[in-house]
Amino acid sequence: MLYNIVGLNLLYKVYLSRTGVSGCSGMLRRSGLSLGQYFLRRKNRAGFSWYFSKTKMSRLVQARRLEGIDKNVWLEFVKLAATYPSVNLGQGFPDFPPPDFVKEAFMKAIGGGNIMLHQYTRAFGHPALVTILARFFGKLLGQELDPLTNVLVTVGAYEALFCCFQALVDEGDEVIIIEPFFDCYEPMVKMAGGTSVFVQLRPKAAETGKLMSSGDWQLDPAELASRFTERTKAIVLNSPNNPLGKVFTREEMEFIADLCVKHDVLCFSDEVYEWLVYDGKEHIRIASLPGMWDRTITIGSAGKTFSTTGWKVGWTLGPDHLLKHLRTVHQNSVYHCPTAAQEALAQAFQREFDSYGKPDSYFVQLSQELQQKRDWLVRSLVAGGMKPIVPEGTYFLMADFSEFKSEVPDVPDSDEPYDSRFIKWMIINKGLVAIPVSAFYSTPHKRNFDHLIRFCFAKEEATLKAAEDILQQWSLEKTGQ
Ligand code: PMP
Repeated sequence: MLYNIVGLNLLYKVYLSRTGVSGCSGMLRRSGLSLGQYFLRRKNRAGFSWYFSKTKMSRLVQARRLEGIDKNVWLEFVKLAATYPSVNLGQGFPDFPPPDFVKEAFMKAIGGGNIMLHQYTRAFGHPALVTILARFFGKLLGQELDPLTNVLVTVGAYEALFCCFQALVDEGDEVIIIEPFFDCYEPMVKMAGGTSVFVQLRPKAAETGKLMSSGDWQLDPAELASRFTERTKAIVLNSPNNPLGKVFTREEMEFIADLCVKHDVLCFSDEVYEWLVYDGKEHIRIASLPGMWDRTITIGSAGKTFSTTGWKVGWTLGPDHLLKHLRTVHQNSVYHCPTAAQEALAQAFQREFDSYGKPDSYFVQLSQELQQKRDWLVRSLVAGGMKPIVPEGTYFLMADFSEFKSEVPDVPDSDEPYDSRFIKWMIINKGLVAIPVSAFYSTPHKRNFDHLIRFCFAKEEATLKAAEDILQQWSLEKTGQ
């Protein structure tokens, strides 16, 4: 009782001092109203709700593992792209439709007679999809894959990555990340309680008279080896790499694999751009190298594979002794992925399995088309005065915009990297959207790469033409013609 009275008094005092209604105490006395009656009579009840919301918020509400990772480049730049009329070469998604056989398979899944395709399916992957994924990738990895234990279907590659870190990285573990890197790796390591250890791909000069290629960016073997310690639990490998477009060579992969075996380290191999490889380059699957199957989780995405990023279906492939832990994370978080999309993708993969390597294979056609789009964007950027780094894979390229620095003055003490401010200016003034490359670097290294921006070229001809026009006009304005 005493506790209640003291509490109410305190509450009353805090309320009066914060809301400026302290003058009302005299008024209350004069009117003979009790405190309760006073609040009940007030139409505006903000007083109490203010008090309770403030008390709720006065402690640290978010888990510590979220500290410092609340900012996100995608939220910011996707919003800007939507706010200003612009040509969007920013976020990585095709603005052309998926192939007809994929759309038809989806429509059949939802409109066909099998009503069970509207209901839950197997938690770790729809039977038809895991069966064909096991057949398809078993062949490529040189492994007999069991659909039930070596394949896990996830909500996009994002969830696949999340499951890897949550299931296999512990407090105090170190995870090696190769820069530039797909930006979610670092926060995912942090949320798992681990520490990211970075190693950079370093550019060497391009051959004379040639544009720089993503292949000119390489790891220093000694530097990479020095990052492996007894605390290293895993390395994240992303080939072809977003944002650079580098396709790691067999020799580079073998070097990484040898280090993994030597130090008993896991490899999370993010291969979502596996089919987007150009100029006859070969995509090597690190899990197929000696000693690697048992320690590698291979990650794929239907979004990138069939131009269906909105379907959010991804997968992991790996040995049961690793995947069983990912299944634990999946079953206690997501549990189940959309059935109809999985059914449609099973049909799509079956078609690709039958036409593997043949001219009518979508994977073959997509990479041919994208190579042409890449070359178009490269030409437009060169003509406009930027220096593109020609990617060997993915649907991204990085370009050096140093020549344009006079357009947007630098603010040396700003927390915001220069490339980010430059792109904001470019969106508003030129109507062209890109993504700052500094977003793909750890905080200490961002400034060294803030003369680069990333463009996505998985775009319709009309979009690429509009970008070309903007760059051409800009270049004319710059040269005063
Ligand atoms: N890894 C990389 C390298 C990516 O670029 C992306 C998507 N941009 C993902 C994973 C996530 O893929 P999904 O859309 O299938 O979740």
